[in-house]
Amino acid sequence: MKQEVVELDGAIGGGQVLRSALSLSMVTGRALHIKNIRAKRSRPGLLRQHLTAVLAAARVCDAKVQGAELGSQCLSFEPGQMRGGDFSFAIGTAGSCTLVLQTLMPALLLAPEASRVRISGGTHNPMAPPTDFLQLAWLPQLRRMGAKVELQLLRHGFVPAGGGEIEVFVQPSKLLPLHLLERGALLTQCASALIAGLAPHVAERELDRVSRRLDMAQEQLKMVTINQDQGPGNVLLLEHRFEHVTEVFSAFGQAALRAEKVADVAINQALDWLNSKAAVAEHLADQLLLPMALAGGGSFTTPRMTEHLKSNIEVIERFLPITIDCKEEGATRLRVECKCPV
Ligand code: ATP
Repeated sequence: MKQEVVELDGAIGGGQVLRSALSLSMVTGRALHIKNIRAKRSRPGLLRQHLTAVLAAARVCDAKVQGAELGSQCLSFEPGQMRGGDFSFAIGTAGSCTLVLQTLMPALLLAPEASRVRISGGTHNPMAPPTDFLQLAWLPQLRRMGAKVELQLLRHGFVPAGGGEIEVFVQPSKLLPLHLLERGALLTQCASALIAGLAPHVAERELDRVSRRLDMAQEQLKMVTINQDQGPGNVLLLEHRFEHVTEVFSAFGQAALRAEKVADVAINQALDWLNSKAAVAEHLADQLLLPMALAGGGSFTTPRMTEHLKSNIEVIERFLPITIDCKEEGATRLRVECKCPV
């Protein structure tokens, strides 16, 4: 029996509503019609990153698509069969490669054949997961769920120049529920300041701030100089490795922002999470929900409800016979649980 088209109002959130809906349409085989895509953003509709995600999704599941144009606020997506293979996608701007990859990942894992996918564009973008976040925080949790996947950064791409590239190898995998309620014991913490085509003092000042505010010693601080033809760009990455979870917080250098202020952005996020009793921070929370829902169950704790988490719950519940319960456990811990009806 043919299932009803899922009708979504994209105005409940931003690009993530579209990307999650595409992932779910691909793996459930249910057609999607979405209107008001990114309606409340200053440049509404499909930007290059979103358009690349749509076209890439269509390639991986042989979908029929209407409305796949720059600026479009309406899209119809009728998926066919998911397949693996060798794919290459170019965003054409510094739009985020990692967000395009996350759109495809569920289908690549559930496809009958293995895949190799290359995506070019931005690899280190503000307001998106840096490639390091996927490698250190997101993918290890997916692997704990059974995903067989390897990700390599081939070349850095920063805003506005872009020109970065990632490559991923995915084997067909069965996802199993994961329960991530506690972080466990602290293992290691470190910080890296990456600079490409910028003066070393930018990284030195960021690391100095980290050392003062997070009490890290010299051996925990690293300056990474990247070839200037991959720049200009600067990102500060804080890595906190616990027994059951690794979290990565990032901040990006901007011409008008002092290096200390850049560092404070990442440090404040890290402190917010470290001072909470939650297992995962805000970004990992909204990115783990969909894989858990596809695994048919899972749970995590996170400091609080966010707009991304809320809209993602709404989209997932429209596609899958699953309920997602959220319960506050004290002031800094929200327990989120995906359950399949019995
Ligand atoms: P829009 O411009 O419409 O907001 P978008 O396509 O750029 O859309 P969002 O809908 O805002 O993206 O989704 C961004 C995703 O990136 C979310 O999953 C969010 O958790 C994640 N993200 C943002 N910043 C970071 C970060 N510093 N580290 C890890 N993940 C991040």
